Amino acid sequence: MTKNGHSQALSNPIFNLLSATAEELKVDAYVIGGFVRDYLLERGCPKDIDVVVVGSGIALAETLSKKLPGNPEVTVFKNYGTAMIKHEDLVLEFVGARKESYRSNSRNPQVENGSLEDDQNRRDFTINALALGLNAKNFGCLLDPFNGLEDLKNKRIVTPLAAEETFSDDPLRMLRAIRFASQLDFKIDPSSLDAISENKDRISIISKERIVEEIHKMIGSQRPTLGFELMHKTGLLPLILPELTALEGIEEVEGQKHKDNFWHTLEVLDNISKNTDNIWLRWAALLHDIGKAPTKRFDKKIGWTFHGHEFVGSKMVYKLFKRLHMPLNEKMKFVQKMVGMSSRPIVLAEDFVTDAAVRRLVFDAGKHVEDLMTLCEADITTKNPYKKKKYKNNFLLVRQKIEEVEARDHIRNFQPPVSGEEIMKTFGIKPSKEIGLIKEAIKEAILEGDIPNEYQAAYSYMIEKGQALGLTLQN
Ligand code: ATP
Ligand code: MG
Repeated sequence: MTKNGHSQALSNPIFNLLSATAEELKVDAYVIGGFVRDYLLERGCPKDIDVVVVGSGIALAETLSKKLPGNPEVTVFKNYGTAMIKHEDLVLEFVGARKESYRSNSRNPQVENGSLEDDQNRRDFTINALALGLNAKNFGCLLDPFNGLEDLKNKRIVTPLAAEETFSDDPLRMLRAIRFASQLDFKIDPSSLDAISENKDRISIISKERIVEEIHKMIGSQRPTLGFELMHKTGLLPLILPELTALEGIEEVEGQKHKDNFWHTLEVLDNISKNTDNIWLRWAALLHDIGKAPTKRFDKKIGWTFHGHEFVGSKMVYKLFKRLHMPLNEKMKFVQKMVGMSSRPIVLAEDFVTDAAVRRLVFDAGKHVEDLMTLCEADITTKNPYKKKKYKNNFLLVRQKIEEVEARDHIRNFQPPVSGEEIMKTFGIKPSKEIGLIKEAIKEAILEGDIPNEYQAAYSYMIEKGQALGLTLQN
């Protein structure tokens, strides 16, 4: 990594056009922030490009748009003095260089026009303050006032100005620090880490939506626990996800202990992240045991129990999503379902696996049965190699059975083989509870394996059941 000659980063023709536009308007312009950082880290060139202009960002955007094919729309945010253009797969954001000063009695900074250095000063981390020149005189030159390049090399997250102020001014930066540490596998500078612990309570002034965005990014990173460990260490975690910290600790009564479900959960999250990029399945892993805190009991005969923790946990998922202003949609229902069913395959794997039990599992999990198995496999965190092997083999067996049973019985997208209409017609009856009873009996017979999931068999069974209920056949 050198200070000069990063024109390779600017090989997209849009940058030449930007350069020409800046010259035409006689302003200095720079690419700054995430784009430069990710390019230098060889994470590929991001599609989000932030351009800072010593002058009007809006004017640069408007002039540029006229030069682009199709003259893409310029979205102007007057209040912030920013503009946005979507061009091909790129999103370009323009902002005038700013100087910010925060007053202790206000959350919003005083903003005035400033130089590039002023603008770099207000950035959150040295690695995010890196800029590349776009003008003829400095095209592709790196402007790095805080030695961000060194910090990139040393994998360090450190604030350009005093950490204490940086975090107090905008507490979201605390979560951003942790999120970048998690995403990039970087270390937060010890003084910055201390400043996070000290300012943690100020996270309360940040909107839930912005907090969740950072949590999503942590969960999406290669080893999500890096982020959760840091939130735990700094004391942010109980302020955001108290359900998780409630799982921490080991209790011992009469010589009997239970495992620490907090650290277990983090292990499960890391495990699952090796096998899926589905962020909602990762959420399910994170929340799969939250019902264990409120359901924990000690029973003199059987030791520690967490009866019904899956059901309680799935109810808690709803409350948690609501509190964090996350959409209460299909994704949430999926997480609830995974949490609610999270012990089902384990129970199966412990016993001799019957076809009927597998059919019931597939029926209840439906199209999510694969995801459920992935969750349960990640849940194996025992340190006993014998047990680990046994559980893994059992799950393999469950997976095999799922395939066999599915090939034969098609339970995954179960549709009643005989419709309510047909039942009414056959017995000449109006809508009534008998129809529900017959349909339920057919479904049960299929899941139990008494009859195959086929029309003829189900039809004969319907007649048998209907007659047993006292109904008579219609001619
Ligand atoms: P990514 O897009 O991968 O999340 P990014 O660094 O590009 O990372 P953005 O939120 O897109 O993050 O912000 C772009 C740039 O704006 C950052 O690199 C940083 O310089 C600056 N920035 C963003 N949020 C803040 C903040 N809260 N405080 C100070 N600077 C910020
Ligand atoms: Mg970005």
